[in-house]
Amino acid sequence: MKELINIRSQRAFTEATKLIPGGVNSPVRAWKHLNATPIFIEKAKGPYLWDIDGNKYVDYCLSWGVSILGHAHPFVLREVRKAVKRGTSYGAPTLHETRLASIVNQRIPTIEKVRFVSSGTEAVMTAVRLARAFTGRNIIVKFNGCYHGHSDALLVKSGSGLGNIQESSSKGIPDEVVQYTVSLPFNDSASLTRFFEEKGNKVAAILLEIVPGNMGVIIPHQQFLEQIQQLAESYNCLIIADEVITGFRHRMVSAQQYYALKPDITTLGKIIGGGFPLGAVGGREEILELLAPEGPVYQAGTLSGNPVAVRAGIATLTWLSQPLELKKVFDNTVYFENNLRRLAEKYQFQYSVWGGMFSIFLTTKPVVNFHDVSQIPDYLFAEFHRQLLQRSVYISPSKYEANFISLAHSKKILDDTLNKIEDTIIKIYPYASHK
Ligand SMILES: *Cc1c(COP(=O)(O)O)cnc(C)c1O
Repeated sequence: MKELINIRSQRAFTEATKLIPGGVNSPVRAWKHLNATPIFIEKAKGPYLWDIDGNKYVDYCLSWGVSILGHAHPFVLREVRKAVKRGTSYGAPTLHETRLASIVNQRIPTIEKVRFVSSGTEAVMTAVRLARAFTGRNIIVKFNGCYHGHSDALLVKSGSGLGNIQESSSKGIPDEVVQYTVSLPFNDSASLTRFFEEKGNKVAAILLEIVPGNMGVIIPHQQFLEQIQQLAESYNCLIIADEVITGFRHRMVSAQQYYALKPDITTLGKIIGGGFPLGAVGGREEILELLAPEGPVYQAGTLSGNPVAVRAGIATLTWLSQPLELKKVFDNTVYFENNLRRLAEKYQFQYSVWGGMFSIFLTTKPVVNFHDVSQIPDYLFAEFHRQLLQRSVYISPSKYEANFISLAHSKKILDDTLNKIEDTIIKIYPYASHK
């Protein structure tokens, strides 16, 4: 293992910080909490990233879960080239939008109607507005460590980039704006029951990541999800499943199908745009019909349903829907999980895997919610990240962020990474020496 040379990235970061706040256009990219300089990317192909110093890495961040086919997939690129040649934005409807809507509707049947937007943030923002309009109530119940984008009302105990910030809600948001947002511990039935007994009839919606991926990957307790379904029925409130990460990431398509949860509204993003800015909010027809111009809930976007993004999305979902391709992600994930379990048992650390996403938690204690993740020492994660990077493995740069496996991550690549994880654990994990 040789020392990583990243002089060009360091210089580029210094230049960037002069013009861009923190040198980045989204906070976790800065690696601030790792006390490290982010690497600047030159290009990406398949499972690999290259930085501007010429270093090559196996990528497990995959643009935060976007690139499920691997980077620069030839089929997606071909469709994108075709699209670009016809002009890149019209602000008028195209056949492709209906085509993508039909694919989404077929794969996720609770989505009877869908509207395309440009980001996950917008999708959830609209979902919340719809839920409030439909129920005539205001309170949104969310869970600590679940991230639902950066809209004002939802920045309450969020995970993701905010997991590293002391005060988890942002400055610049009046108390009045978050007064109807209630955040409770995930996987904690007692506090959910208590809240609903007190204020259940004022709740517009329970908003959740069914498998949270913004406090690391957290596996939901089946009984907790059943409780959410029952409460929604008893109190006549809606369920908003934020599947921006989990949608299309499983052999069974999404988390709601895997866990048999029936949301009223679902939000999608990341995978659905095939590497371009695209999000979606969909659900029961009678709710979606409230959107302008049909109904009184306003929502709009200059670039919404952008023709290039939509065609990249269609290409990605079409490729993924080939049974053999989806099976590949699934088989490789199972393979990775089995080997990770072996390491976890040997060296006494925790891990989680769902669909093509995973977390490694450097602790001996079970991890079921945000609090458990927050207890993991930051210096330990920073060292884990640094040493893996030196070994040419690029994992997500925060203990609160999930890692991802793409179709391009072969068993051989996964084996190599598992060996490097083992080497690193032996070196840095204090509990490893006991075995
Ligand atoms: C990434 C993410 C969002 C926000 O999506 P953006 O496209 O970054 O605005 C919302 N919800 C979840 C669960 C996410 O992972």
